[in-house]
Amino acid sequence: MTRVLLLGGTGDALRIARQLGSRHVYSLAGLGKVPDDLSCGVRVGGFGGSEGMARYIADERIGLVVDATHPYAAQISANAAKASGAVGVPCWALRRQGWKPQAGDDWRMVGDWAELTAALAPFNRPLFTLGREPLAHLDEIPPQQFWTVRCLDTYEGSPRARILATRGPFTLKGERMLFSAEAFDVVVSKNSGGSATEAKLEVARERGLPVVMLRRPELPAVDREFASVADLLEALQVSG
Ligand code: NAP
Repeated sequence: MTRVLLLGGTGDALRIARQLGSRHVYSLAGLGKVPDDLSCGVRVGGFGGSEGMARYIADERIGLVVDATHPYAAQISANAAKASGAVGVPCWALRRQGWKPQAGDDWRMVGDWAELTAALAPFNRPLFTLGREPLAHLDEIPPQQFWTVRCLDTYEGSPRARILATRGPFTLKGERMLFSAEAFDVVVSKNSGGSATEAKLEVARERGLPVVMLRRPELPAVDREFASVADLLEALQVSG
């Protein structure tokens, strides 16, 4: 029976991992919570680039790599495609659809941090929802801005920033309360897709707020792509 190496670190990947039996392996970078209630094996930490992953695939007699990492985790996805190709093992990927702007939405697409800060120049109260990257730029906050940064990390912050160390999913009710309490004037987001963090876009729409959206990175071609967990699980037909 084919032994699966599932690359995760997302809610979708965890849903897949919950269906895998003991011979399969769920791999995490180690930045977030490590589940301790899975039937499958769990390994934590980098492989050491694509060469390291290729060695792992060969040593552990993996027969299929499944990339269910976040759409912005471009390095591990590139490594997965390269490593599996190098050892002649198929690579499948869950490629979650991005969100689409709806009528009246004001999305300002940016490609990198420099474009992002330029797009934020007219605003005073941005809500950052794209992970820890803003934490490295807290000493660059323009004088007129106060930042709110929502990410997994707890952090001391700065007098001109508030760090919200919370983990999704986020409800519409909770987002409405947050937005009205903090009076944000712009939302900064990745186009992650899925429902877990989508409520902020709905609240931005309700309040007529612009969204500065970081473009998705290019991801490698793989042997099979799936748009949903259900489709992937059906194709896997996994069992222990
Ligand atoms: P990345 O830039 O693509 O990967 C950086 C390095 O982290 C990889 O080269 C690899 O190290 C290691 N790594 C990443 N995912 C791994 C996994 N599942 N198993 C083992 N090693 C892994 O990734 P990232 O953007 O830092 O994301 C790290 C993790 O957080 C991923 O699991 C991703 O799914 C999750 N995540 C990311 C985001 C996001 O916005 N980027 C959001 C939610 C969750 P080696 O080269 O040493 O193998």
